[in-house]
Amino acid sequence: MQILIIEDEEALRELLDYEFRRLEIGVLALDNANDALMAVEDCPPDLILLDLMLPGLKGLQFLDILRREGNDVPVIIISARNAETDIINALERGADDYVTKPFSFNFLEAKMKAVLRRGGEIKSSPKFSLGGVSVDLEAHKAFSDGQALPLTQKEFELLTLFMRKAGRAFTRNQLLNSIWGYDSSLVSRTVDVHVASLRKKLGDKGRYIQTVPKIGYLWEISNF
Ligand code: CA
Repeated sequence: MQILIIEDEEALRELLDYEFRRLEIGVLALDNANDALMAVEDCPPDLILLDLMLPGLKGLQFLDILRREGNDVPVIIISARNAETDIINALERGADDYVTKPFSFNFLEAKMKAVLRRGGEIKSSPKFSLGGVSVDLEAHKAFSDGQALPLTQKEFELLTLFMRKAGRAFTRNQLLNSIWGYDSSLVSRTVDVHVASLRKKLGDKGRYIQTVPKIGYLWEISNF
């Protein structure tokens, strides 16, 4: 396990560095994103904690470069900026999660675990299961406690996306683009309608799909 921290605020950087070392987690802590570009090549991290306001290359510019190069390493933004537009923008540009400062180390650790867990076996396996809900991509079927769910094509795709990226918040725009493609005739209400229908069909497990106020939706995994 190797964590890359990109944070120019010395006190926070050193605190995080200390905490990860205490947990015997490999960590490289840098104060700028320019050096980080080299670091991700030389020693690919399993997860990156990325500040936004940095000297030189900014956090989002670094993220853009990473994703443009096809690097899908999990990235959690750590930032004092807490406006919803900042959060939405970061998520749409490929961040996996966003933690606003100040935060406790326990909270950050929980976010990291969630991000890493979803990056594990679920990512590549054609069959996966969370909290009694399972998806079989080859059979193109979903089940709740072993009972087949009568999902439409779009509902199936939504469920698959949510579960594969459990714990990640999706904006309505991201869901529109991922599931429906770039169709200008569709509005974000389309997403709400399909999510509501999917929730209903999931019954009591519909609670796993949580509404993130002003952002969108995520598949909650903290209670599993
Ligand atoms: Ca900063």
